[in-house]
Amino acid sequence: MRHVSAACFIVLAYLTGMRPGEVMALEHGCCPDPAEGGRHLIYGRVFKGVHDQDGNHYSAGQVREVPWVAIPPVVTAIRVLEHLAPEGGLLFDASVHTIPRGRVSTGRVFGYEAMRHRIEDFAIWASQLAVRLGRGHEVVPDDPHGAIGVARFRRSLAWHIARRPGGLVALAIQYGHMRTAMSAGYAARGRGGIHELLDIETARATADTLTTLHDDLAAGAGISGPAARRAIHAAAQAPTFAGSIRTHRQARDILGNPALTVYDNPRSFLMCVYNRDRALCHRLDVGDAPRLDRCRPSCANVAHTDHHADQLLQHAQTLEKQAASETVPGPLADRLSQRAGQLRALADRHVHDRINAQEPTA
Ligand code: SF4
Repeated sequence: MRHVSAACFIVLAYLTGMRPGEVMALEHGCCPDPAEGGRHLIYGRVFKGVHDQDGNHYSAGQVREVPWVAIPPVVTAIRVLEHLAPEGGLLFDASVHTIPRGRVSTGRVFGYEAMRHRIEDFAIWASQLAVRLGRGHEVVPDDPHGAIGVARFRRSLAWHIARRPGGLVALAIQYGHMRTAMSAGYAARGRGGIHELLDIETARATADTLTTLHDDLAAGAGISGPAARRAIHAAAQAPTFAGSIRTHRQARDILGNPALTVYDNPRSFLMCVYNRDRALCHRLDVGDAPRLDRCRPSCANVAHTDHHADQLLQHAQTLEKQAASETVPGPLADRLSQRAGQLRALADRHVHDRINAQEPTA
């Protein structure tokens, strides 16, 4: 029971962007099944900035004006908790989650300290299980910043959506989906919500990308691709805002400047110099940010740097090694070799087309 409540809390806090207190206050029935084709929404309470008419903080909070968007793993976690919690009760009722006291609601939720301990215990248990099953790569690594706690999930989510949209395969779909849900859905209309964190992290990621590109170009690195010249122009502005993004307004200024919308996309070995009208990833989609998880190499917003070309060659080599293995079936080996050939062709084209900041082509 301890691990189930911790696991559900982690899923909810990490994949919704709710504050810890808002997760703890969720009630049975907070996420009804939508009508056919609709999206699951969570109706919960918010506490931050809620005051009564005399200006006193209202500790009971109020029902959030705009519901949270729930992606499938979140709905699953809520359904698990609803099996445990009594009808109409709190999902994290302390008594319900404490065996042997059992399923009698007290109307009192966990304290943060108790949940913090459960999360730590869960991480230890999950790591031990991973070792026992011979899955060393799934061990939860030690965190240099100390215990995970309950408050770091929101910022981690924003950081990952902004910077690792094509990261771990299982999560890439969720991150991509979360950004769409947030920018096109209900969360974007809430005040002071996670979308502000998301904007700040996205602007910081953009600033970091431009600063790195600026330094690389100054050192004589080359760049190629249909968006290479636009990337060079954007990088020239990097020194003016590097390290200065602290507020949502600063982030919006950067994200709203079409000349600066440059995103690194390491998983696709390219840089996206985003222009909405030319974006191929938006053909079947809506939204005002690139879908890096659905990036298409033939897009007119693509630029490759020397680093990307090196990575293309390294990845091609890895695929060729896999293809040469006797354990790989023939058809799969053919596909791996074919993919390696495509990557090498991209790297060759970069070498042929590359320009640098001193001699941009027209
Ligand atoms: S398809 Fe184009 S716009 Fe979309 S992420 Fe890739 S390069 Fe950017």
